[in-house]
Amino acid sequence: MARRSTDLPWWRKLTEAVRRIFAVQSKRYLCDSCKYDYPSACSRPERPNALRCPDYKHK
Ligand code: SF4
Repeated sequence: MARRSTDLPWWRKLTEAVRRIFAVQSKRYLCDSCKYDYPSACSRPERPNALRCPDYKHK
C-alpha cells in the first residue's frame, strides 16, 4: 500500500515541496524552441515565456 503524504515526517514534506518548486522553475519555455519566436512573427503577450501555446511550431 502506498504511503500517504500526510504520513511523511515534516522534513520529507519540505524536501518534496522544494523539489516541486525547482521542477517548475527549470521548465523550459515553449518559445525557446518555437519557429515564431521573434516580434514580427508572434505578437502573443506570453512570448517569450509561454508554457502552453496553440500556435507553437517547432523550429
Ligand atoms: S507562437 Fe507561442 S510558443 Fe511560439 S513564440 Fe509565440 S507565444 Fe511563443
